[in-house]
Amino acid sequence: MRIRRLPAALVNQIAAGEVVERPASVVKELLENAFDAGATRVDIEIAGGGRDLIRVSDDGRGIEPDDLPLAVESHATSKVVEASDLDAISTMGFRGEALASIAAVSRFSIESRVADREEAWRLEVSDTVRGEPTPTSGPVGTRVEVRHLFESVPARRRFLKSETAESTRVAEVVRTLALTRPSVTFKLVSGGRTLVDLPASDDPARRILGVLGTELEGRVVQVRGEIGDPGDDTLVTCWGLVGVPETARPTSRQQRFVLNGRAIGDRSLSHALKEGFRGLVEPGRHPVGVIHLEMSPSRVDVNVHPAKTEVRFRDARPLHGLVRRAVRAALVEADLARELPIGSESSAPPDPFDAAAPPPSRPDATVSGSGRSGFGGGGSVVAPRRSGTASPSVEALRAAIAPGPDAGSEIPSTSTAAEVLPTLVGSDAVLQVHDSFLVTQDEEGIVIIDQHALHERVMFEVLSRRIGEGDLESQRQLVPEIFEADPGQVEAIDLVQPLLKRLGIELTPAGPRSIAIHAFPSLLVSRRVEATPFVSELLEKVAAGELDRDDEEAALADVLDMMSCKAAVKAGDRLREAEIAQLLEMRDRIDRGASCPHGRPTHLRIPIPELERRFGRSTS
Ligand code: ADP
Ligand code: MG
Repeated sequence: MRIRRLPAALVNQIAAGEVVERPASVVKELLENAFDAGATRVDIEIAGGGRDLIRVSDDGRGIEPDDLPLAVESHATSKVVEASDLDAISTMGFRGEALASIAAVSRFSIESRVADREEAWRLEVSDTVRGEPTPTSGPVGTRVEVRHLFESVPARRRFLKSETAESTRVAEVVRTLALTRPSVTFKLVSGGRTLVDLPASDDPARRILGVLGTELEGRVVQVRGEIGDPGDDTLVTCWGLVGVPETARPTSRQQRFVLNGRAIGDRSLSHALKEGFRGLVEPGRHPVGVIHLEMSPSRVDVNVHPAKTEVRFRDARPLHGLVRRAVRAALVEADLARELPIGSESSAPPDPFDAAAPPPSRPDATVSGSGRSGFGGGGSVVAPRRSGTASPSVEALRAAIAPGPDAGSEIPSTSTAAEVLPTLVGSDAVLQVHDSFLVTQDEEGIVIIDQHALHERVMFEVLSRRIGEGDLESQRQLVPEIFEADPGQVEAIDLVQPLLKRLGIELTPAGPRSIAIHAFPSLLVSRRVEATPFVSELLEKVAAGELDRDDEEAALADVLDMMSCKAAVKAGDRLREAEIAQLLEMRDRIDRGASCPHGRPTHLRIPIPELERRFGRSTS
């Protein structure tokens, strides 16, 4: 084949793949254009999850009719004039590609009116054929309509998820962008339902609580800090709100970073936030918060990624230190943490920026709100919570696993022979050590069992077997348990309805920000697992995309894991003799694998010859 130049329309369709992946990315580009046009209000309407319709209207400065054809042409922009402009980009857009790309894969129209004209002008692009601008009526501002997204690109269209899943993503994008512009009013309506309704506010904290959830009200701490020289472009300031440690979540979905008004994903900043909370949240949990950073645009390159969600800092390390210290200082000030001894930070990389610059002004911190009950007194570091109560009986569990005396033999083997433990020596005493480990003997030596890991393993087998027989048996609540949730969690319910049914969990939205639990698995109830935190964590994982929605069996295994962990006795639970005996008995019945579902071992064995060798008795 000879080499040919691609027609412009096809070039745009190919390029569209970079910018327009799904309805949410279209919405993002259109909102950014509205911001660049100085809009104070944006209205977003979608239908069919955005496949059928996306309409974004703003009250920004509009486009001159003569410019409309250029607006939809690729590499045409009003925002960058010469190469040096790229060194310090202060607008959201600059590539001049978004409208052209969107128009190449949809039936597209744009209507716009500038302030000093009587009429609006409209331009349509359909099947990559551009019309001519025609006059129409309409308010000052711009309205873009995108219909039948990807109709001409079936490969892309097939790639889209369900209507609910796509509208959930759109809502996430709108909320994230709303965090970057507290002074803009946002409204999102999907299929007639209002998903986002955020009035403009001159208090950025209002907007943060509006997005992250008002249940954080009174449970946040204000973070503030700066480094560099206020007199030049080395100045970096940071401001934000973080939730007190008890509001930490199982995923980092409720963490946002906004750099110069642009929402960015940045692992190093997430890490810095977490470091600020070091010792205050358990390893598996993530602090909640929104941090705004402002710096000279010349110190950051936003032209790294077509969708501009990643940025490159000229020097990232000072930012890490800034965020970490500002967060820590805020928590110390709020009496939620004690100052870390110098030594504990020695593992962090050195901070060359700090050494070079004049001593940074100490980040100051103020507490917003008053309610921060539930914390141990006088500035001590909060220790991970332990269940202080006596361990619940394992009776229910025993009943669950042993419907008949030979039930154990039905449990399918899941591991290799090498992992199987030899039977414990019958009547020997078992010692519980530090309320966490069981020490006993078998024919070969000393066996040390991690009580939580073993019980978790047992629970996993029980649950897997039960679910193999049908939906888990559930206990209905006489009065539904209602809890505050964030909208992402509410929307997640629909995404995993079939899975929930199998698990014996019945949920309904009880409002835009609350969820009702109608039924919860009996097995968990009998193990005193609290429904609200469990369901909340589960939905959070769904919303964060941590549960594979496309592979129900994989998702199921993950949830069973979660259930087993919550239902199992914990390290620190004192067990009664009978409970220990039952646990070991169940172990012998299951006894198929030597590791808990997370892959940690459930037991260790020290063989007698090893003991002899260590005590210097060995003759060999
Ligand atoms: P970019 O934003 O990178 O310049 P776009 O393709 O998104 O590229 O937009 C092209 C041009 O159209 C912009 O530079 C701007 O001049 C104009 N434009 C697009 N959307 C709007 C809007 N909502 N209000 C005013 N002008 C707009
Ligand atoms: Mg743009």
